Amino acid sequence: MGLSFGKLAFGQWARELGRWVPPAALAHVGQPAALFFHGVEPATADPRLQTNHHEVAAFRAILEGLKDFDVLPLTAVDDVLAHPGKHSRSVFLMSDDGYRNTLTVAADILDEYRMAWTLFVSTAHIGSGVPNPIFVARLFFLHAPPGRHLLPHLGEVDLGSQETREKSALSGIDRLRFLPGEQAEECVAAMRGAFAPGALEALIEGFGSEKFLDWDDVRALHARGVTIGAHADSHWPMHGGQSQAWLTRQAAGAKARIEAEVGSCRFFAYPFGNKPDVGAAAWKAVRDAGFSHGFTTLSGTLAAGRTAAGAGALAAGGNPWLLPRYGLGPRDSHIASLVPLLCTGNPRLRRWQARLA
Ligand SMILES: [Zn+2]
Repeated sequence: MGLSFGKLAFGQWARELGRWVPPAALAHVGQPAALFFHGVEPATADPRLQTNHHEVAAFRAILEGLKDFDVLPLTAVDDVLAHPGKHSRSVFLMSDDGYRNTLTVAADILDEYRMAWTLFVSTAHIGSGVPNPIFVARLFFLHAPPGRHLLPHLGEVDLGSQETREKSALSGIDRLRFLPGEQAEECVAAMRGAFAPGALEALIEGFGSEKFLDWDDVRALHARGVTIGAHADSHWPMHGGQSQAWLTRQAAGAKARIEAEVGSCRFFAYPFGNKPDVGAAAWKAVRDAGFSHGFTTLSGTLAAGRTAAGAGALAAGGNPWLLPRYGLGPRDSHIASLVPLLCTGNPRLRRWQARLA
């Protein structure tokens, strides 16, 4: 209370503060938490396009920081939520989307550190060659031929110099993201069509980081002990503007696909996963699909619900389909200080859970 985050998003604020607080000062205030990354790459060619990937050295620095914690398999989440006091140093480590480099790079490093992790896959992208729509949109804004492009549901976009392209990318993607899923798919298809034949494919080929796993890869990770969860079907937000049919495809559709390809699946993570990306109907679709837990990208701890009014019937994280999760920044090496600070996000998380009840 009384904390002012100014214009910093909560995660940024915790990240900044975490740099200056010695871990020993915070060891006693620990609460269990969930942390996630996306992919891990030996090197990044274009940080504007490869926003989802940690470089190997930075990823190792994060795992070094996590040595002070108990990194548990997600199957322990029921015990953690039931007894958060027993789990003050417990964390869950997760990877979102299902990039191929989680198998070719991250898995070996995580095995070396003997850390359990969960992979949340967006099923429409696994083994299909369909790239992440936001990645296609970024490629369109930065690399499509110059001139005016008329995009369905988004209007006219004039692509010129690099600087104006970066600005159009920011505002264009922001509007694209809040379109209903079906309209966004039409718009992204038009973006693909703006490239000369083969040009987009050649560009995508240059960014190996954005390649998704195929189902054999997902099964191989599962056989190595990785828990497989669902990150919806299409990598697109489940905001309040989405139809019930779209939400059902995202939740029940993804679960059915994983269960057919890999085996039982009870954990869900929302694409994007922040306040504007998850509507009240979204978590209900996740619950009704039979998932036991859903993870957002709001910061907080898995003890967040302990003091919530009427939380008796709920798990300790509050609504179990709207659990908090912290997105690891590219250089979050001061993780031992950062994790205990996540509890300061809990009041905001609880207010949001109550609003979506
Ligand atoms: Zn994602």
